Amino acid sequence: MLRIGVVGGGQLGRMMAEAGAGFDARFIFFDPSDSPCAALHGRHIHADWNDSAALESLAQESDVVTFEFENIKADAVARLATQCPAFPPAKALQTAQDRWAEKSLFRSLDIPLPPVAKVDSQTDLDTAVAEIDLPAVLKTRTLGYDGKGQKVLREPGDVIGAFAKLGAVPLVLEGFVDFDHEVSAIAVRGRDGETRTWPLSRNEHRQGMLHCSIPEPGHPLQRLAKDYIDRVLTELDYVGVMAFEFFVVGDDLLANEIAPRVHNSGHWSIEGAATSQFENHLRAVAGLPLGATERLVPCAMLNVIGALPERDAVLKVPGTRWHDYGKTPRPGRKIGHITVLASSDEQLGERIGAVEELLVNDLG
Ligand code: AMP
Repeated sequence: MLRIGVVGGGQLGRMMAEAGAGFDARFIFFDPSDSPCAALHGRHIHADWNDSAALESLAQESDVVTFEFENIKADAVARLATQCPAFPPAKALQTAQDRWAEKSLFRSLDIPLPPVAKVDSQTDLDTAVAEIDLPAVLKTRTLGYDGKGQKVLREPGDVIGAFAKLGAVPLVLEGFVDFDHEVSAIAVRGRDGETRTWPLSRNEHRQGMLHCSIPEPGHPLQRLAKDYIDRVLTELDYVGVMAFEFFVVGDDLLANEIAPRVHNSGHWSIEGAATSQFENHLRAVAGLPLGATERLVPCAMLNVIGALPERDAVLKVPGTRWHDYGKTPRPGRKIGHITVLASSDEQLGERIGAVEELLVNDLG
């Protein structure tokens, strides 16, 4: 039996626990909410993110601790790691928590990225706009997700007072990238340093939120993406699954952001890959051999956001798999996803179209 402590008890933790069933793993979820959706599959420690006594009991009850929530304070993670093995490392969480630290890491590893400037005042913003030009995207340095905490500045009028409008908190200004499409590379690194990468997935966002991910084996930028993510994994001495989001511009990849955890754009791997991101994450943190990452059949993942579509109608579309996270629907909240499997790309396109017609997503 393997005892796995997970900081965070949302759908990522829930799917991790589902992947752990074959390993006779027992899960303990640490989460401040009353009934996190992962609690179905394990014990729930109900405490604030930075409650050090409660984190200590998580460490005591676990053979290894991991994270599905990344905004816990880095020093709390560092303390946790002195009490029991904890992966990914605190440095990875700390870097991903701050967009400026993240972009500095990309630069130090020669990974191309959009022009970016640090913005701590309206004067900094005016200077950054003069350097980077419009359009540009103003983003909070910390706590941004799913397109929240950011604003596209298109014309000079948008710049006036924009620092205050985003809360007068530390920001970055990024050049607006007129990308061809967006991809993410999901990779896993084991305790022994071995890495494996899933096929790049092509991602479509709506209102800054992921709508659809389609893995594309043979994507021409796969090798380049693997090279970039390997540089980051090695630099951070990383263990576990990491996601790296890129903008594709012609033959180039521009780094957007990393997530030091299993990722929404990798959910297709549950049914569509030889080993899912959730299983390989568990294998990595537990020190087990990693599984193969190839795509098995043409497939896609569609997010269910804000409202559930009619389940039976979705199930009637051949090749669909239904994932209801059991969360209360709220506009803009990810409450499930649907995997679509097919035997050809053409059939996949038809099935995605059929499911999209049934979605009633409310992005808020
Ligand atoms: P982020 O939270 O930084 O991943 O941004 C969410 C989404 O907003 C991205 O996946 C893109 O679709 C869009 N976006 C973010 N930054 C930029 C940018 N610099 N240029 C164009 N689109 C962007």
